[in-house]
Amino acid sequence: MFQLLDGKAISLQIKDEIANEVRGYTTKGMRPPHLAAILVGEDGASKTYVANKEKSAHEVGFISSVYRYSENTSEDELLKVIDFLNKDEETDGFIVQLPLPKHISEQNITNAISPEKDVDGFTAINTGRFVIGDERAFLPATPMGIVNLLQRYNIETQGKHCVVVGRSNIVGTPAAVLMSRNNAHANCTVTLCHSRTQNLADITRQADILIVAIGKPEFITADMVKPGAVVIDVGIHRIPDETKKTGYHLCGDVKHSEVDEKCSYVTPVPGGVGPLTIVSLLQNTLKAYKLRNNI
Ligand code: NDP
Repeated sequence: MFQLLDGKAISLQIKDEIANEVRGYTTKGMRPPHLAAILVGEDGASKTYVANKEKSAHEVGFISSVYRYSENTSEDELLKVIDFLNKDEETDGFIVQLPLPKHISEQNITNAISPEKDVDGFTAINTGRFVIGDERAFLPATPMGIVNLLQRYNIETQGKHCVVVGRSNIVGTPAAVLMSRNNAHANCTVTLCHSRTQNLADITRQADILIVAIGKPEFITADMVKPGAVVIDVGIHRIPDETKKTGYHLCGDVKHSEVDEKCSYVTPVPGGVGPLTIVSLLQNTLKAYKLRNNI
């Protein structure tokens, strides 16, 4: 019998812990942590993500601001805003919601963020700090959420074979780095797979822990999973569905209707990895605040 890894419940638990800690600081007269977001253009998904981040920040007692710019804002204008936020004593951390319009270089923008305020952990300096295990690093939100989830459920990782499918800079690659770390919540033997991997199913079938972040609906089927595996499904897709009021249903990169019963633990979609991703951003903001205030 498999157990669902309830990301929603764990995220509420962690939010409570953050809110308590924040209350401890504010009752001493300190200002609360402040998370800012820069949103460019009218992309519906980006607006939803930023609104969710703002809501979560308020729930834990943070100050939250959103800087909104039109689709045709120039790279220079955006760099000026970043420069302002880098210097602003009242902002502890900020994010630039991606994707940006085509005429703006995401790399230039991301790397202009001060590493001390880069709570998404996307700058080159942060990535370097993260890979060498520098404690100042802000971990990328989704892989950090995955590790939190495994940890909160006391899932043994040491010595296990963890197979990560997908090698993006924001999920697969950092997840592989984190799971191979020399600490009690990692210490896995890691295999990182991608679209050029040969005999993928032979490899995924060897996984004690299978992390899937490929962006293809229900790609991982039961024959690709070892009985008793822990399966973490990062993927999230809106599938048009006339039977639903919303006109769509959500699914992941894993075919849960046949995979779940083979697992020991599995993350649902929605309600698995997703809620933990936002919580990681809050945890990083709290960390930035504490570093700034020498707490
Ligand atoms: P990317 O598109 O950036 O990367 C996908 C990766 O999957 C690539 O490395 C690609 O390989 C690999 N891949 C694609 N097809 C195959 C295949 N047939 N076999 C093996 N590997 C394959 O995606 P992201 O990492 O950004 O996101 C992945 C999924 O996770 C998406 O559904 C996204 O929506 C979701 N997501 C969810 C989050 C959450 O909070 N729940 C947060 C972030 C993402 P190659 O490098 O060779 O092209």
